[in-house]
Amino acid sequence: MIVVADTAGLLEKIDAVPRPLCLVPTMGALHEGHLSLIRAARETVGPQGTVAVSIFVNPIQFDRKEDLEKYPRPLEKDLAASEQAGADLVFTPDASQMYAADHSIVISENRLSNFLCGASRPGHFSGVCTVVMKLFLLFRAQSAVFGKKDFQQLAIIRRMVRDLNVPIDIIGHATIREADGLAMSSRNVRLSPEQRADAPIIRRSLVAARDLLSLGERQAEPILAAARFHLEKSPLLKIDYLSLVDAETLEPIAIIRRPALLATACFYGSVRLIDHVELMQCY
Ligand code: AMP
Repeated sequence: MIVVADTAGLLEKIDAVPRPLCLVPTMGALHEGHLSLIRAARETVGPQGTVAVSIFVNPIQFDRKEDLEKYPRPLEKDLAASEQAGADLVFTPDASQMYAADHSIVISENRLSNFLCGASRPGHFSGVCTVVMKLFLLFRAQSAVFGKKDFQQLAIIRRMVRDLNVPIDIIGHATIREADGLAMSSRNVRLSPEQRADAPIIRRSLVAARDLLSLGERQAEPILAAARFHLEKSPLLKIDYLSLVDAETLEPIAIIRRPALLATACFYGSVRLIDHVELMQCY
């Protein structure tokens, strides 16, 4: 496995690696969710193609300084896990490799970013789009894999690729969960044992609210009320947002007539966790 930390070194190597190339962008602290993205990338390119992973804690997508500073960075472990999962090349730049000191161009998305995480994290998706586009250009990847766990991120990247005619295939991958239902996240290691034990309530609350759909409920309000009722049983978490939105436009809706999404972000102390359920039954 090739490991390269500088942009010039990457550009030198990238011409020589076999194509097609599938990229898995990550911020590291790899868990089984990331590793299953790497395996999906291998399936996409086949045994002869190249699976590339980027590990970069992108400072411009963090809206809270503490979150950036406390983000786990176990690089050696990540490299071993990437190799084990089948990566051929891992790019591990630092911020100075990715951003000139006076960088002044960003990509902004102005519709889907107005809702959900975009509403509570100003500038976040602009930071994501900018870094992801830079990675697409650096790797000249034929395809890239992103987790559906970050549903809004995936939707925005698909929109960026569509609107800017980026020649790349975007693959969405199912959310990988712990046995108790908690969505795997690099931030989970920052939970205290009490918070970790409590955190599956997020998934349970969303699923309980989704169950109203099979009883015939189509109004957003009672579904949101049910999810809130369950979430508020936890004395440890604080709801950042809880929204029922159209699965395509991400706009809040009052009645479910098309595929929708019940999504939440919750704080345990300073650790922010997100999850969602898709509401896909017939309307
Ligand atoms: P991150 O390192 O959190 O920026 O995530 C890198 C990629 O892994 C993104 O495409 C995420 O959506 C994806 N990812 C993170 N957690 C999971 C998970 N539990 N299941 C599937 N994909 C995930």
